[in-house]
Amino acid sequence: MVKSKKKKKMAGKKTIEKKSKKFKAAEKPKEREELLLQPLRGMKDILPADQPYWDQVRRVSEKLSRDYGFARIDLPLLEYTNLFSRGIGEGTDVIEKEMYSFLTRGGDKVSLRPEMTAGICRAYIQHGMNMLSKPVKLFSTGPAYRYERPQEGRYREHYQVNYDAFGEQDAILDAQIIQVALRVVQNLGIKAIQIQVNSIGCPTCRKEYRELLVNYLESKKNKLCQDCKRRMEFNPLRTLDCKEDKCCQVGATAPQSIDHLCEECRTHFKNLLEYLDELNLPYTINPHLVRGLDYYTKTVFEIWSGQEDGRKYSLGGGGRYDGLMKTLGGEDTPAVGFALGVERLIGEMKRVQAKPYKYPKAKVFLAQLGDFAKKKSLGLFSELEKNGILVAESFGRGSLKSQLKVADRLGVEITLILGQKEALDQTVIVKNMKTGVQEIVSADKLVDLIKKKLKADNVIVYHNGEGNGNNHSGNNGENNNNV
Ligand code: AMP
Repeated sequence: MVKSKKKKKMAGKKTIEKKSKKFKAAEKPKEREELLLQPLRGMKDILPADQPYWDQVRRVSEKLSRDYGFARIDLPLLEYTNLFSRGIGEGTDVIEKEMYSFLTRGGDKVSLRPEMTAGICRAYIQHGMNMLSKPVKLFSTGPAYRYERPQEGRYREHYQVNYDAFGEQDAILDAQIIQVALRVVQNLGIKAIQIQVNSIGCPTCRKEYRELLVNYLESKKNKLCQDCKRRMEFNPLRTLDCKEDKCCQVGATAPQSIDHLCEECRTHFKNLLEYLDELNLPYTINPHLVRGLDYYTKTVFEIWSGQEDGRKYSLGGGGRYDGLMKTLGGEDTPAVGFALGVERLIGEMKRVQAKPYKYPKAKVFLAQLGDFAKKKSLGLFSELEKNGILVAESFGRGSLKSQLKVADRLGVEITLILGQKEALDQTVIVKNMKTGVQEIVSADKLVDLIKKKLKADNVIVYHNGEGNGNNHSGNNGENNNNV
């Protein structure tokens, strides 16, 4: 008994020693991996200098979404992987090669969204939006992730603005969706654009067309690239928009989907073209346009930049996807939508020298001198801001001279000077920067006086929320309200 106790004790001691050795090993500092101070390949930072372009895209796309009756929806970036594989289609490049997928610590298979529509349909079903009056129009914006080979205009993280309309079969909705896409692009100042449209039919007529196409492709199989040989089996329509020269040649004489539409799809496409004609939209029919995702039915379209030098970019695209909601387990719901790529839009804006957003510029500068005045100046700044007056400051600087220099550089109309004496007397010196004239004003009358002065000078006083907090940057623009 005693012996076994002793043995146990010894064994216990050994375990503790073992554990503590293990613990020490874990504690030993590991060799540190090199810290790469850069984003992942195909991803980028959006720096303050570029934000005026991003703001312009945000403002234009959000304003148009409201004008055309779209409600905003924001979704998580991560969803269960099978939402995308079922929705977008197993045979597509996006699903086969481009998803960022991983197992969570809890063992869930998840993916970063490669596009937005599947997630939006998931939310539509989950939140019973089928009960809302139709069409249900939703707008969303944010990043999407695709593990593609990065190149100009193609990133692994890119941003989209996305519009979807649910519950309406009529081609008038397709036309309106194309109209919205065009309005966003035009309102950003991109004028030379081309809209390409096609109809790839419904599952019924596409089945027949698909057989015809596969037979044709079989006869040309040796002329196709390796990818297209594979696509023939899973997704033969995709061979039609392959960029390889030899596949383009095969595609040029391939049967075209619009020649094989069923009655319903043909009428739908004809109606769409009539609506587009009515709107005078600059479209062409591209019989090779199929789009990369499996869920499309009937209408597909893309918006291309019309560069003279021959280099063209797809700025965005979309189409009808009447079967997706049912595929995901929801009620049969016709739907149509599109996404524009924000980086592509901005690239094109820069190329055509379209105007970025110009932030409202402060017309008032607040300078302070001495410890007591410095303390009071924070409250005064906030008082002005609460009253919708955009104010610039340089609180870190102590000398009045250097603060006035900043005020000069910013080109403000008025500088407020709060010195020790003024802070004690509850007054402020108001200096007209053009004339140099100064007056002493009681602090409680300051807001009214400034509003009056700025109005008299025909300078806008911004209402709360209009200013963007960027008022110290010395950005010299006026607010351009072309949105
Ligand atoms: P899609 O979801 O493929 O229809 O893409 C919609 C739009 O997003 C495209 O027309 C492009 O403007 C943009 N886009 C798609 N993939 C990328 C990418 N990898 N990098 C940048 N923009 C992209």
